Amino acid sequence: MRVSLDGQVVVITGASRGIGRATALELGRAHARVAILGRDEAALAELEGEVRALGAEVRRYAGDLRDHARSAEIAEQVRRDLGPVDALVNNAAVGRYGAFLELGVEDWRQMLEVNVLGLVAITQAFLPDMLARGRGHILNVSSVQGVRATATSSAYSATKFALMGLSESLAQEVGPQGIRVSVLCPGSVETDFDGFPGRLKPSAMLPEEVADAIRDMLETGGRAHVSQVMLLPFGRRGDASY
Ligand code: NAP
Repeated sequence: MRVSLDGQVVVITGASRGIGRATALELGRAHARVAILGRDEAALAELEGEVRALGAEVRRYAGDLRDHARSAEIAEQVRRDLGPVDALVNNAAVGRYGAFLELGVEDWRQMLEVNVLGLVAITQAFLPDMLARGRGHILNVSSVQGVRATATSSAYSATKFALMGLSESLAQEVGPQGIRVSVLCPGSVETDFDGFPGRLKPSAMLPEEVADAIRDMLETGGRAHVSQVMLLPFGRRGDASY
């Protein structure tokens, strides 16, 4: 059974570029009412215009996910502007790679603060309304690095493994109350994530292809629920980085 996203309110974190940006456009094409979040105001303003041109309602909210008070404020503003939220796509993250002894505690702190604590705070800001309505969908973007770690990804992988545990626990906790929690684990995607230019990534997927998968997950309804998806580049030549 497919759920129509037409008129549904969907919040996307990390929408200013990459996968989040492609997702906002894809959901705009589905005529969802989209709230786009990120720090880069100019990029959000440009995207807002593009989503609006698709005929969808869209609002932008600038903020740093490490500022939990700002996340709570954004949740309140979204509620006032667009009404109760149907889905939250937790997509924003940062990644730094390096040998374990080269990654300092500050690198770890930055990744934990955005990828885990920032995500927790914004989820806690939106979840109470979903629980009150007895419906909602929280879709967490993890990574294959949240399932299989590779060398030099200790901190990033640790945050994505944390996200897997968090998602599984939350799914069991709030599923009986009508809230779907799902996780998407993409392999390599052609974005500028972690400062590594996307165009240089061999055999990477396109952000639009990941956005398609996010739309599919949000559109699955009825008695079925897509709880975890591994989305891997097809046709790669056996490199270990996915
Ligand atoms: P990206 O192009 O670097 O985009 C990351 C987004 O996160 C940006 O919109 C950025 O917005 C936002 N962000 C970063 N720090 C933030 C903060 N402190 N507060 C608020 N927003 C913040 O990365 P991407 O490739 O699209 O990645 C999206 C998701 O996919 C991430 O969860 C990533 O772990 C996952 N993923 C990516 C790949 C890949 O190969 N690219 C593979 C597997 C999984 P601002 O800078 O405007 O704040």
